[in-house]
Amino acid sequence: MSLHFIHEFNPGRVIFAAGARTQCAPELDRLGVARAIVLSTTQQADLAAEFARTIGSRAAIIYPGAAMHTPVEVTRSALEAARSVNADGILSIGGGSTTGLGKAIALRTDLPQLVVPTTFAGSEMTPILGQTEAGIKTTLRSPKVLPETVIYDPDLVTTMPPSIAGPSGMNAIAHSVEALYARDLSPISLFMAEESIRALGSALPRAVKDNRDKTAWSEALYGAWLAGICLGTVGMALHHKICHTLGGTFNLDHAGIHCLMLPFTTAYNRSAAPDAMRRTAAALGDEDAPAALYDLMQRLGTHRSLRDFGLSESDLDLAADLAVANPYWNPRPIEREGIRGMLQAAWEGRMPEVGSAA
Ligand code: NAD
Repeated sequence: MSLHFIHEFNPGRVIFAAGARTQCAPELDRLGVARAIVLSTTQQADLAAEFARTIGSRAAIIYPGAAMHTPVEVTRSALEAARSVNADGILSIGGGSTTGLGKAIALRTDLPQLVVPTTFAGSEMTPILGQTEAGIKTTLRSPKVLPETVIYDPDLVTTMPPSIAGPSGMNAIAHSVEALYARDLSPISLFMAEESIRALGSALPRAVKDNRDKTAWSEALYGAWLAGICLGTVGMALHHKICHTLGGTFNLDHAGIHCLMLPFTTAYNRSAAPDAMRRTAAALGDEDAPAALYDLMQRLGTHRSLRDFGLSESDLDLAADLAVANPYWNPRPIEREGIRGMLQAAWEGRMPEVGSAA
């Protein structure tokens, strides 16, 4: 790699430790927040209530209504709740959906955010927000949505069942795999991407196998943090675009579709990004990146083919058309025939051939 790069650091404060959840009150004080809106999904309402108790009078209202893909109608209702108590800050407890709602509120109000992630999605480290209106998901970048403070407490991710933890971890690996062939990579993003694939690849299978293995959960969360930084720092390509298209068009689980597609998108790019392939394979202790990712997907995923997600074979033509509709940069040019072939392999759940380009 020639030493010619631009690297932009996103500002933000990160606290990482088992038990760090107890730091919420002092961190809110540090941000000058006295009346926070506490956000979560419905499923994590009890956890949000527990955090609200911990921060005492700093919790002005709890809004346990976050939903996947940040629907704007949910944002409007949460904004109303925030205004009803004159909230001066946001405390988001949960995965990417809850973080997304906090970011959507911050975009419209500029309120400071304290985020306590409970999945491996990595959204808390990015100035990116995806929002859905009338079934269409659009993505924007703005420094306004970047959280001011993030508390990573590995104890909080251990409650994910394997069906959530496995795909969520693969979602994080996907950020780092695409960072390795990004046009705007720098030596530091390269380092973080490799290190995150190594940490996640080693720790995730151990964590989902034994929920009490605290070292594994901690290492996986560390890898997810690095992957989130990569996602927030460099541009993504085919993998993220096609997951966005498939997820949005067929209303599929975000982490689940990332988990399934990663071996196939990596195989599509294999011949065009040899250095990224070598680094990914090495970080996973293997010789072939798509094969190593396929193996991980088989061990960690809940769906092993697009067919398992309920897609019919005829849906693949629409998916291929949508995937090539808005051109974007990718190491290997986006060609409809190749994309359709890749989708066919993913629909069948067929292992990408070692050494082939698709
Ligand atoms: P999620 O936040 O929707 O969580 C999935 C489910 O797991 C939810 O029901 C949630 O309540 C539950 N859950 C979360 N943590 C848990 C825990 N510790 N124990 C038990 N259950 C738990 O899913 P996600 O994959 O984290 O996030 C997906 C969303 O995040 C999508 O909308 C995606 O677009 C967005 N995202 C955005 C970015 C970004 O940079 N903007 C990055 C990654 C993901």
